[in-house]
Amino acid sequence: ETALELNQLSLWYDDKQALKDISLRIPKNRITALIGPSGCGKSTLLRCFNRMNDLIDGCRMEGDILLEQQSILHHAGDLSALRRRVGMVFQRPNPFPKSIYENVVYGLRLQGVRDRRVLDEAVERALRAAALWSEVKDSLRQNALTLSSGQQQRLVIARAVAIEPEVLLLDEPTSALDPISTLVIEELMTTLKQHFTLILVTHNMQQAARVSDYTAFMHNGSVVEFAQTDDLFTAP
Ligand code: ADP
Ligand code: ADP
Repeated sequence: ETALELNQLSLWYDDKQALKDISLRIPKNRITALIGPSGCGKSTLLRCFNRMNDLIDGCRMEGDILLEQQSILHHAGDLSALRRRVGMVFQRPNPFPKSIYENVVYGLRLQGVRDRRVLDEAVERALRAAALWSEVKDSLRQNALTLSSGQQQRLVIARAVAIEPEVLLLDEPTSALDPISTLVIEELMTTLKQHFTLILVTHNMQQAARVSDYTAFMHNGSVVEFAQTDDLFTAP
């Protein structure tokens, strides 16, 4: 089953073409890794899925991306509805300087959820999904910035999954973390795919081999290879 379908997607920053005619089907409830050398277009492609490129002056796109059959690039009107369906996690953990609890309910509050019991339940559900609940359940009022960076990254993941998006974009989510925290997040990604479609940008081939189901190799703005990860990384 396909979550995202890219049809002849191209992108320019002013005159410079950064994505070239990419057609791809990204499977639902799987982890797809985007790998390739620095500057090949991984982050640019990731930013197409939530229309973050719209914020960049001089950025122009052609082609289309369909999310569950609906156009992302030609989505009319309010982008917040789209962004609710596509969550994003960045390289550096970026919790807000607020309590753990307020970080997790942030998106729900924006959606107008006020019921305390609904929020409490969502906090527990999201923190459990992010493998952080047992560590923080007695300190939900503590400032998020007091957590370790590995915990902060899991908190950011909890914040993203709290609004139950369909797709979770992860832009080098472990490259600022120590090896143990990295393994915890890798393990977490493989459990999250039961509920979400994950797209993981990584420069780490071993990580792609460890966690992803599918791998897209990018080079110079093109996807030059897309296959099941097991087939790519096992010797013939
Ligand atoms: P990082 O890979 O450290 O997250 P960025 O995503 O900001 O860094 O940038 C990735 C690449 O895009 C770099 O090569 C950078 O020079 C280039 N880049 C980023 N923003 C701009 C910009 N506004 N104009 C031109 N090049 C940019
Ligand atoms: P990667 O994530 O694979 O390192 P990027 O998507 O960041 O690659 O960059 C792809 C190309 O687009 C690079 O040549 C980069 O310099 C350029 N680029 C990235 N962001 C911008 C931007 N905001 N403005 C202009 N050029 C950019």
